[in-house]
Amino acid sequence: MSGRLTNRVALVTGAAQGIGRETAIRFRAEGALVVSWDLHAPAPLPDAAGPAGIEEAVDVTDAAAVFAAASRLLAAAGRIDILVNNAGITPGYVALPALTAAVLDTVLDVNLRGAVQVVQAVVGAMKAQRSGRILNISSVLAEYGYPGQTAYVASKSALEGLTRVWARELGPFGITVNAVQPGYIRTPMNSGNGAALETQVVARTPLGRLGEASDVAAAFVWLASADAAFVTGAVIPVDGGFIP
Ligand code: NAD
Repeated sequence: MSGRLTNRVALVTGAAQGIGRETAIRFRAEGALVVSWDLHAPAPLPDAAGPAGIEEAVDVTDAAAVFAAASRLLAAAGRIDILVNNAGITPGYVALPALTAAVLDTVLDVNLRGAVQVVQAVVGAMKAQRSGRILNISSVLAEYGYPGQTAYVASKSALEGLTRVWARELGPFGITVNAVQPGYIRTPMNSGNGAALETQVVARTPLGRLGEASDVAAAFVWLASADAAFVTGAVIPVDGGFIP
């Protein structure tokens, strides 16, 4: 299917690789004008039908840069229909006694404060339009907990809570807010994990494979499309049925 996002303007953060990149590619294939932000400007989207994208270097933790880039986006595109708050980092396994304030702050800064301030930068335009889709990305680790993931799970659990807060606060303005909760997805973030962990994950996954970035991008396309018009405040697992 294609054309589900025709005439939509979509902003994807953390869009240089992995889930963000795949989401930007899928959104463009569905007809959206896609604005891709990452620490370094993402490569232009591959040739395909659909509007050419806009790629910019924007660190979501830098409030001034976020607000300035959002102003440029609105000046260039005239509107903002979809935000995918995808930028995220993980410090990997950190046992509780070893967790420093610096690591905790850094993870919360990107995964939580970064997401909050990108929403703040675009929500005024969405409210004025009286329409918008805000999509957050959590993790199965927030659902089940996982040893050594204090900072990451704190940030993702907070995003799930904010998905519900924003759904209630922004619903009256025609804005829906949902989150996807991926399982283990094969992306550069997980490239150093090794085969043993991946074998364990597959063994606990009824669908018998690891997730792909395209699995998560497909959920984002649906949540951004007209078909999900009456869905808000939802946290949708995309994990192959993973059992912890
Ligand atoms: P990735 O590391 O491959 O890509 C993340 C992107 O975010 C990178 O391009 C990185 O440069 C960018 N980024 C990091 N800090 C940034 C900042 N301050 N400003 C702007 N961009 C920044 O990771 P991924 O696996 O594609 O993960 C994408 C999102 O999905 C993350 O939020 C991650 O927590 C979440 N997630 C991933 C998995 C998984 O198994 N891969 C599972 C659940 C949730």
